[in-house]
Amino acid sequence: MNYVVLDLEWNQPDKNELVNPDLPFEIVEMGAILLNENRQIIGEFTQIVKPVVYKEMNRITGKLIHLNTKELNYGKSFTDTMKDFFEWCGEEYIFCTWGTQDLTELQRNMKYHEMPPLALRPFPYLDVQKLFSIAFDKDRKVRRSLEYAVEYLQIEQDIPFHRAFSDAYYTAKVMEAMEEVSIFENYSYDVFHVPKSRKDEVKVLFHDYAKYISKEFEDKTEAMQDREVISTKCYLCKKNLRKKIRWFAANPKHFYSVSVCDKHGFMKGKIRLKKSEDGVYVVKTQKFISEEEVDEIVAKREHIRQMRREKRKAGKQES
Ligand SMILES: [Zn+2]
Repeated sequence: MNYVVLDLEWNQPDKNELVNPDLPFEIVEMGAILLNENRQIIGEFTQIVKPVVYKEMNRITGKLIHLNTKELNYGKSFTDTMKDFFEWCGEEYIFCTWGTQDLTELQRNMKYHEMPPLALRPFPYLDVQKLFSIAFDKDRKVRRSLEYAVEYLQIEQDIPFHRAFSDAYYTAKVMEAMEEVSIFENYSYDVFHVPKSRKDEVKVLFHDYAKYISKEFEDKTEAMQDREVISTKCYLCKKNLRKKIRWFAANPKHFYSVSVCDKHGFMKGKIRLKKSEDGVYVVKTQKFISEEEVDEIVAKREHIRQMRREKRKAGKQES
Protein backbone atom coordinates (compact mmCIF):
# COMPACT_ATOMS: atom_id res chain seq x y z
CA MET A 1 0.00 0.00 0.00
CA ASN A 2 1.19 3.52 -0.81
CA TYR A 3 1.26 6.49 1.53
CA VAL A 4 -0.28 9.83 0.58
CA VAL A 5 1.45 12.43 2.75
CA LEU A 6 -0.80 15.44 2.77
CA ASP A 7 -0.47 19.00 3.98
CA LEU A 8 -2.91 21.87 3.60
CA GLU A 9 -2.73 25.61 4.08
CA TRP A 10 -5.95 27.44 4.81
CA ASN A 11 -7.21 30.97 5.03
CA GLN A 12 -9.53 32.68 7.49
CA PRO A 13 -10.93 36.19 7.67
CA ASP A 14 -9.09 39.01 9.45
CA LYS A 15 -12.11 39.67 11.65
CA ASN A 16 -13.77 37.03 13.81
CA GLU A 17 -17.29 38.23 13.01
CA LEU A 18 -16.72 37.37 9.35
CA VAL A 19 -16.17 33.65 10.05
CA ASN A 20 -18.56 31.40 8.18
CA PRO A 21 -19.39 28.64 10.70
CA ASP A 22 -19.75 26.08 7.88
CA LEU A 23 -16.22 26.81 6.73
CA PRO A 24 -14.03 28.36 9.42
CA PHE A 25 -10.86 27.45 7.47
CA GLU A 26 -10.85 27.60 3.70
CA ILE A 27 -8.18 25.57 1.94
CA VAL A 28 -5.94 27.72 -0.28
CA GLU A 29 -3.14 25.30 -0.98
CA MET A 30 -2.67 21.55 -1.15
CA GLY A 31 0.64 19.75 -1.15
CA ALA A 32 1.24 16.02 -1.14
CA ILE A 33 3.93 13.42 -1.55
CA LEU A 34 3.26 9.88 -2.71
CA LEU A 35 5.41 7.24 -1.05
CA ASN A 36 5.57 3.59 -2.04
CA GLU A 37 5.38 0.83 0.56
CA ASN A 38 9.12 1.21 1.21
CA ARG A 39 8.54 4.90 1.88
CA GLN A 40 10.36 6.09 -1.22
CA ILE A 41 9.08 9.19 -2.99
CA ILE A 42 7.25 8.26 -6.21
CA GLY A 43 5.10 11.33 -6.79
CA GLU A 44 4.49 14.97 -5.94
CA PHE A 45 1.38 17.11 -5.93
CA THR A 46 1.08 20.84 -5.39
CA GLN A 47 -1.76 23.23 -6.15
CA ILE A 48 -2.91 26.69 -5.10
CA VAL A 49 -6.68 26.77 -4.59
CA LYS A 50 -8.74 29.83 -5.40
CA PRO A 51 -10.90 30.70 -2.39
CA VAL A 52 -14.62 31.48 -2.76
CA VAL A 53 -15.43 32.45 0.84
CA TYR A 54 -12.38 34.31 2.17
CA LYS A 55 -11.05 35.91 -1.00
CA GLU A 56 -8.64 38.22 0.77
CA MET A 57 -5.56 36.57 2.23
CA ASN A 58 -5.49 36.96 6.01
CA ARG A 59 -2.62 39.32 6.83
CA ILE A 60 -1.04 37.19 9.54
CA THR A 61 -1.61 33.82 7.88
CA GLY A 62 -0.42 35.22 4.57
CA LYS A 63 2.92 36.16 6.09
CA LEU A 64 3.28 32.77 7.72
CA ILE A 65 2.50 30.70 4.63
CA HIS A 66 3.96 33.17 2.08
CA LEU A 67 0.85 33.54 -0.03
CA ASN A 68 -0.92 36.74 -1.05
CA THR A 69 -4.34 37.51 -2.48
CA LYS A 70 -2.99 37.96 -6.01
CA GLU A 71 -1.44 34.48 -6.01
CA LEU A 72 -4.69 32.97 -4.74
CA ASN A 73 -6.52 34.44 -7.72
CA TYR A 74 -4.39 32.32 -10.03
CA GLY A 75 -5.45 29.19 -8.15
CA LYS A 76 -7.65 26.36 -9.37
CA SER A 77 -11.14 25.79 -7.99
CA PHE A 78 -11.36 23.51 -4.98
CA THR A 79 -13.45 20.86 -6.73
CA ASP A 80 -11.11 20.70 -9.74
CA THR A 81 -8.11 20.50 -7.41
CA MET A 82 -9.70 17.60 -5.55
CA LYS A 83 -10.51 15.79 -8.79
CA ASP A 84 -6.85 16.05 -9.86
CA PHE A 85 -5.71 15.11 -6.41
CA PHE A 86 -7.75 11.91 -6.13
CA GLU A 87 -6.66 10.84 -9.60
CA TRP A 88 -3.06 11.43 -8.55
CA CYS A 89 -3.53 9.44 -5.30
CA GLY A 90 -4.27 6.21 -7.21
CA GLU A 91 -6.15 3.22 -5.85
CA GLU A 92 -4.67 1.90 -2.63
CA TYR A 93 -3.22 4.31 -0.12
CA ILE A 94 -3.39 5.53 3.44
CA PHE A 95 -3.36 9.23 4.31
CA CYS A 96 -0.51 10.56 6.43
CA THR A 97 -0.57 14.01 8.02
CA TRP A 98 1.38 15.97 10.63
CA GLY A 99 -1.17 16.20 13.45
CA THR A 100 -4.89 15.58 13.32
CA GLN A 101 -6.36 18.70 11.76
CA ASP A 102 -5.70 18.41 8.02
CA LEU A 103 -8.12 15.56 7.30
CA THR A 104 -10.85 17.28 9.31
CA GLU A 105 -10.48 20.52 7.37
CA LEU A 106 -10.20 18.66 4.06
CA GLN A 107 -13.52 16.94 4.73
CA ARG A 108 -15.17 20.10 5.97
CA ASN A 109 -14.14 21.84 2.74
CA MET A 110 -15.41 18.89 0.70
CA LYS A 111 -18.72 19.01 2.54
CA TYR A 112 -19.00 22.75 1.99
CA HIS A 113 -18.49 22.19 -1.75
CA GLU A 114 -21.09 19.38 -1.68
CA MET A 115 -18.63 16.74 -2.75
CA PRO A 116 -19.21 13.06 -1.91
CA PRO A 117 -17.62 12.19 1.46
CA LEU A 118 -14.23 10.46 1.76
CA ALA A 119 -15.94 7.78 3.86
CA LEU A 120 -19.15 7.43 5.82
CA ARG A 121 -17.49 5.98 8.85
CA PRO A 122 -14.20 6.49 10.70
CA PHE A 123 -11.18 5.49 8.64
CA PRO A 124 -7.54 4.82 9.55
CA TYR A 125 -4.74 7.25 8.77
CA LEU A 126 -1.25 7.92 10.08
CA ASP A 127 -0.65 10.92 12.29
CA VAL A 128 3.09 11.28 11.71
CA GLN A 129 3.39 13.75 14.61
CA LYS A 130 2.14 10.98 16.92
CA LEU A 131 4.41 8.38 15.27
CA PHE A 132 7.38 10.67 15.83
CA SER A 133 6.58 10.94 19.55
CA ILE A 134 6.12 7.19 19.92
CA ALA A 135 9.42 6.58 18.14
CA PHE A 136 11.61 9.26 19.71
CA ASP A 137 9.89 10.56 22.85
CA LYS A 138 8.49 7.14 23.85
CA ASP A 139 5.36 9.05 24.80
CA ARG A 140 2.45 9.24 22.38
CA LYS A 141 1.02 12.32 24.07
CA VAL A 142 3.97 14.61 23.35
CA ARG A 143 3.35 16.94 20.38
CA ARG A 144 6.40 18.25 18.54
CA SER A 145 6.50 20.72 15.69
CA LEU A 146 7.53 19.54 12.24
CA GLU A 147 10.59 21.83 12.43
CA TYR A 148 11.62 20.14 15.67
CA ALA A 149 11.35 16.68 14.08
CA VAL A 150 13.31 17.74 11.00
CA GLU A 151 16.08 19.19 13.14
CA TYR A 152 16.07 16.23 15.52
CA LEU A 153 16.49 13.78 12.63
CA GLN A 154 19.06 16.05 10.94
CA ILE A 155 17.10 16.13 7.73
CA GLU A 156 18.53 18.53 5.20
CA GLN A 157 16.42 21.72 5.11
CA ASP A 158 16.60 22.44 1.41
CA ILE A 159 13.24 24.23 1.04
CA PRO A 160 11.50 26.72 3.39
CA PHE A 161 8.77 25.52 5.80
CA HIS A 162 5.08 26.47 5.89
CA ARG A 163 4.05 25.92 2.34
CA ALA A 164 1.78 22.95 1.78
CA PHE A 165 4.26 21.18 -0.47
CA SER A 166 7.31 21.71 1.73
CA ASP A 167 5.51 20.57 4.88
CA ALA A 168 4.25 17.44 3.10
CA TYR A 169 7.78 16.87 1.82
CA TYR A 170 9.35 17.19 5.30
CA THR A 171 6.65 14.98 6.80
CA ALA A 172 7.51 12.36 4.16
CA LYS A 173 11.21 12.79 5.01
CA VAL A 174 10.43 12.18 8.69
CA MET A 175 8.59 9.00 7.70
CA GLU A 176 11.54 7.94 5.60
CA ALA A 177 13.85 8.45 8.59
CA MET A 178 11.77 6.25 10.89
CA GLU A 179 13.44 2.91 10.50
CA GLU A 180 11.37 0.78 12.83
CA VAL A 181 8.62 -0.53 10.55
CA SER A 182 6.32 -1.46 13.47
CA ILE A 183 5.91 2.26 14.24
CA PHE A 184 3.61 2.44 11.22
CA GLU A 185 1.15 0.08 12.90
CA ASN A 186 0.11 2.91 15.23
CA TYR A 187 -2.60 4.29 13.03
CA SER A 188 -5.22 6.78 14.13
CA TYR A 189 -8.87 7.06 13.17
CA ASP A 190 -10.42 10.04 11.52
CA VAL A 191 -13.86 10.60 13.06
CA PHE A 192 -15.23 13.38 10.87
CA HIS A 193 -18.11 10.99 10.17
CA VAL A 194 -19.18 9.46 13.48
CA PRO A 195 -20.71 5.95 13.06
CA LYS A 196 -24.46 6.32 12.71
CA SER A 197 -25.24 2.68 13.40
CA ARG A 198 -23.78 -0.29 15.21
CA LYS A 199 -22.41 -1.84 12.02
CA ASP A 200 -20.16 1.17 11.40
CA GLU A 201 -18.60 1.10 14.84
CA VAL A 202 -14.83 0.58 15.01
CA LYS A 203 -13.17 -2.20 17.02
CA VAL A 204 -9.42 -2.54 16.56
CA LEU A 205 -6.64 -4.35 18.32
CA PHE A 206 -3.23 -2.73 18.66
CA HIS A 207 -0.29 -4.63 20.06
CA ASP A 208 -0.84 -3.47 23.65
CA TYR A 209 -4.38 -2.12 23.74
CA ALA A 210 -7.81 -2.30 22.13
CA LYS A 211 -9.83 0.61 20.80
CA TYR A 212 -13.55 0.97 20.27
CA ILE A 213 -15.32 3.91 18.60
CA SER A 214 -19.04 3.78 19.28
CA LYS A 215 -21.98 4.86 17.22
CA GLU A 216 -23.57 8.22 17.91
CA PHE A 217 -25.90 8.60 20.89
CA GLU A 218 -28.37 11.31 21.71
CA ASP A 219 -26.66 12.28 24.94
CA LYS A 220 -24.31 11.21 27.70
CA THR A 221 -26.99 9.32 29.64
CA GLU A 222 -27.91 7.19 26.64
CA ALA A 223 -24.24 6.53 25.86
CA MET A 224 -23.32 5.56 29.41
CA GLN A 225 -26.25 3.12 29.64
CA ASP A 226 -25.34 1.32 26.45
CA ARG A 227 -24.26 -2.27 27.09
CA GLU A 228 -21.58 -2.25 24.42
CA VAL A 229 -20.09 1.00 25.73
CA ILE A 230 -19.81 -0.17 29.33
CA SER A 231 -18.99 -3.81 28.61
CA THR A 232 -15.63 -4.97 29.95
CA LYS A 233 -15.01 -8.16 27.99
CA CYS A 234 -11.39 -9.27 27.83
CA TYR A 235 -10.29 -8.19 24.36
CA LEU A 236 -7.94 -11.17 24.12
CA CYS A 237 -10.06 -14.13 25.27
CA LYS A 238 -13.48 -12.43 24.81
CA LYS A 239 -14.70 -13.55 28.24
CA ASN A 240 -16.96 -11.34 30.32
CA LEU A 241 -14.86 -10.12 33.18
CA ARG A 242 -15.60 -9.46 36.80
CA LYS A 243 -15.05 -5.83 37.74
CA LYS A 244 -12.59 -4.88 40.42
CA ILE A 245 -13.40 -1.19 40.07
CA ARG A 246 -16.74 -0.23 38.56
CA TRP A 247 -16.91 2.61 36.03
CA PHE A 248 -16.39 5.94 37.76
CA ALA A 249 -16.14 9.46 36.41
CA ALA A 250 -12.75 11.15 36.78
CA ASN A 251 -14.37 14.25 35.27
CA PRO A 252 -17.56 14.81 33.22
CA LYS A 253 -15.94 13.33 30.09
CA HIS A 254 -13.61 10.59 31.31
CA PHE A 255 -14.52 7.29 32.96
CA TYR A 256 -12.35 4.47 34.26
CA SER A 257 -12.82 0.87 35.33
CA VAL A 258 -10.64 -2.12 36.14
CA SER A 259 -11.66 -5.72 35.46
CA VAL A 260 -9.90 -8.98 36.11
CA CYS A 261 -9.22 -11.74 33.59
CA ASP A 262 -8.04 -15.02 35.13
CA LYS A 263 -5.78 -15.56 32.18
CA HIS A 264 -4.57 -12.05 31.28
CA GLY A 265 -4.66 -10.08 34.52
CA PHE A 266 -5.94 -6.58 35.28
CA MET A 267 -7.61 -4.79 32.40
CA LYS A 268 -8.10 -1.05 32.60
CA GLY A 269 -11.02 0.48 30.73
CA LYS A 270 -11.11 4.14 29.79
CA ILE A 271 -14.10 5.85 28.20
CA ARG A 272 -13.78 9.26 26.63
CA LEU A 273 -17.03 10.99 25.82
CA LYS A 274 -16.83 13.08 22.64
CA LYS A 275 -19.16 15.60 21.08
CA SER A 276 -20.43 15.01 17.55
CA GLU A 277 -22.57 17.25 15.38
CA ASP A 278 -25.87 15.68 16.50
CA GLY A 279 -24.99 14.14 19.84
CA VAL A 280 -22.17 12.28 21.49
CA TYR A 281 -20.04 9.21 20.87
CA VAL A 282 -17.54 7.26 22.89
CA VAL A 283 -13.94 6.21 22.42
CA LYS A 284 -13.13 3.33 24.72
CA THR A 285 -9.64 1.92 25.19
CA GLN A 286 -8.78 -1.24 27.09
CA LYS A 287 -5.34 -2.14 28.27
CA PHE A 288 -3.69 -4.62 30.61
CA ILE A 289 -1.99 -2.97 33.56
CA SER A 290 0.16 -3.85 36.56
CA GLU A 291 -0.99 -4.10 40.16
CA GLU A 292 0.69 -0.77 40.93
CA GLU A 293 -1.33 0.88 38.20
CA VAL A 294 -4.49 -0.62 39.70
CA ASP A 295 -3.53 0.98 43.02
CA GLU A 296 -3.10 4.33 41.26
CA ILE A 297 -6.62 4.08 39.85
CA VAL A 298 -8.01 3.17 43.29
CA ALA A 299 -6.24 6.22 44.71
CA LYS A 300 -7.63 8.39 41.94
CA ARG A 301 -11.17 7.22 42.72
CA GLU A 302 -10.67 7.84 46.44
CA HIS A 303 -9.36 11.33 45.76
CA ILE A 304 -12.42 12.15 43.63
CA ARG A 305 -14.80 10.80 46.30
CA GLN A 306 -13.05 12.86 48.97
CA MET A 307 -13.32 16.03 46.87
CA ARG A 308 -17.04 15.41 46.35
CA ARG A 309 -17.63 14.89 50.07
CA GLU A 310 -15.86 18.14 50.85
CA LYS A 311 -17.79 20.00 48.20
CA ARG A 312 -21.08 18.67 49.60
CA LYS A 313 -20.09 19.69 53.11
CA ALA A 314 -19.13 23.17 51.95
CA GLY A 315 -22.46 23.43 50.12
CA LYS A 316 -24.41 22.49 53.27
CA GLN A 317 -22.55 24.99 55.41
CA GLU A 318 -23.35 27.78 52.97
CA SER A 319 -27.10 27.08 53.00
ZN1 LIG B 1 -8.48 -12.68 28.89
